Amino acid sequence: MIAHRANLPRIPPQCQPPQIEVFADMSVASVFPRLEAKLPSVQKPIQYVGGELNSVVKDWDCAASSEAGGPTVRWALMYPDAYEVGLPNQGVQILYEVLNERDWILAERTYSVWPDMEQVMRTGDEQGRIPQFTVDSHRPVGAFDLFGLSFSTELGYTNMLNALDLAGIPLHAVDRGEDDPVVIAGGHAAFNPEPIADFIDAAVLGDGEEVVLAISEVVREWKAEDRPGGRDELLRRLAVTGNIYVPHFYDVAYAPDGVIEAVVPNRPGIPFRVRKHTLMDLDQWPYPANPLVPLAETVHERFSVEIFRGCTRGCRFCQAGMITRPVRERSIKTIGDMVENGIRKSGFEEVGLLSLSSADHTEIGDVAKGLADRYEGSNVSLSLPSTRVDAFNITLANEFSRNGRRSGLTFAPEGGSERMRKVINKMVSEEDLIRTVATAYSHGWRQVKLYFMVGLPTETDEDVLQVADLAKRVIAKGREVTGRNDIRCTVSIGGFVPKPHTPFQWAAQLDHEATDERLRLLREVVRQDKKYARAIGFRYHDGKPGIVEGLLSRGDRRVGRVIEEVWRDGGRFDGWSEHFSYDRWMESADKALAGTGVDVDWYTTRERGYDEVLPWEHLDSGLDKDWLWGDWEDALAAAEGADIEIEDCRWTPCYDCGVCPEMGTEIQVGPTGQTLLPLSVV
Ligand code: SF4
Repeated sequence: MIAHRANLPRIPPQCQPPQIEVFADMSVASVFPRLEAKLPSVQKPIQYVGGELNSVVKDWDCAASSEAGGPTVRWALMYPDAYEVGLPNQGVQILYEVLNERDWILAERTYSVWPDMEQVMRTGDEQGRIPQFTVDSHRPVGAFDLFGLSFSTELGYTNMLNALDLAGIPLHAVDRGEDDPVVIAGGHAAFNPEPIADFIDAAVLGDGEEVVLAISEVVREWKAEDRPGGRDELLRRLAVTGNIYVPHFYDVAYAPDGVIEAVVPNRPGIPFRVRKHTLMDLDQWPYPANPLVPLAETVHERFSVEIFRGCTRGCRFCQAGMITRPVRERSIKTIGDMVENGIRKSGFEEVGLLSLSSADHTEIGDVAKGLADRYEGSNVSLSLPSTRVDAFNITLANEFSRNGRRSGLTFAPEGGSERMRKVINKMVSEEDLIRTVATAYSHGWRQVKLYFMVGLPTETDEDVLQVADLAKRVIAKGREVTGRNDIRCTVSIGGFVPKPHTPFQWAAQLDHEATDERLRLLREVVRQDKKYARAIGFRYHDGKPGIVEGLLSRGDRRVGRVIEEVWRDGGRFDGWSEHFSYDRWMESADKALAGTGVDVDWYTTRERGYDEVLPWEHLDSGLDKDWLWGDWEDALAAAEGADIEIEDCRWTPCYDCGVCPEMGTEIQVGPTGQTLLPLSVV
């Protein structure tokens, strides 16, 4: 359901900055006394009160009483979505803990406030507006040294603008003064931060654990020296490290036809390319060690352990797989220790083993068996959120459901036809899939979920209609092996959005009308089938949000004006269907891009060529451009029938994607040969 746009508050062009009360001892007053009286008037007020188990509250000047002494470095960390989505986010939880472990650093969390709370904060009280606050100590975000935002999706950009405005921090980096926080973006969506370049001071690519400490050291030294050269010098010191991107230090030149001519540093000493950061040896960083336990209901209520980072399977659509290379496994012993510690400290009864493809861990069988043995008969259940399509996963799933809970099984063939799966380099044959689901049904599962994408490069209606054939074969096989009629298969479909740093970064995105038409055709074919229609569930989204995501994913700095226009018109929570307004985005784009010669189609449905300077080309994910281009050409050749498969470099020789030599990294996989010991009861 799309909300009526009048439901969301429009931002007055000149908002008064909130007042930040600073006491003589340099502590910063909590806004909670002002907030408390207003909490009964907003939805789910508990999300704003903080005090979760394992949360941390420190003195504002914690370094003064520390061994290290010197200045305190203060971070406000944000996941730019509501508390229920933001609190479970692993990235923010890890950084919160890593930073707070240092006695000279203070880190607090803040989340996006719902529109009702926003209204309350903007209306304020006799002291003026109530600023964006942290949930730990309710301190104003504007009082911190650094404001770090983690973006899993580009649809969080308008929430960032709202938080900046509520915090009283000027929206544009160039307007910020000496006392404003340094605004830093991270997370997967920050691998192309160009659409938000005007609003951030810096961006960090890659793993955050070490780089947030490096940033803190730079800030601490600069503060200890009494802030020489002001904000500009601090940003320069960050930029010259080569790991931190400061957009303001780069000029972008455009050709008359709208494409980028060049992106070049505009001052001496600033590197031409900014490199991503890769954390090696995950065993040395066993976080979260003190998982936050939410007070209000959240999207995940479990303790999650990341069992490895990176993926080298080479699925061409998958940005996460491409930008997190190479694979680095956590050892079975560390996984076991983290699970035991996390359950003990949080009281969670569900453990998720996270990664991009968890069944690929070299010792997943031993991990599953060891944990299932250890927690057999207890209330602790295990889950494996992402799995490949093969029979081995059924064995795993059986281990994981030993404690009685049998969650649904999800497989992601992604492409409906064998031809499409070759194009995307996801080599799942129909026979493999049918064999796997047959095993699942015969082991007692009654429901499987299949995930597909629509709008993939070179796709035709016929490719999409094969999703229906596949679903029918799955049901037929399930009925055959079980002799039952209550077998179900849910088909879930998402729209494909080409992403930066992938072989499909040059591809044309399918327009939303064509996407919707293909989905309609597929739905009709499923519905008309008397024998199977009732057994097949069908879940999909229309194509419009995908176009906005496409605009933001492959946009350049000119797209920043669109984001600002949308936010000024009341745009918030764009990842939520009830708040998202396609019309608002399109009207804002028309206005903001007028006179530039480019429009939404130019950014989304246009195929790019090899010579075009892409907006993120100066941001180094390690992937070699020629390798990416060659892989794109291989995809097009596969569409014509060529038999080209890129295998996983974990098991086959390196195929020179560029990452390891460029980043000085290597693949780290087991087996370690260890097993998990049962826990002794004390
Ligand atoms: S450089 Fe080689 S080993 Fe490293 S991720 Fe790329 S293909 Fe794999």
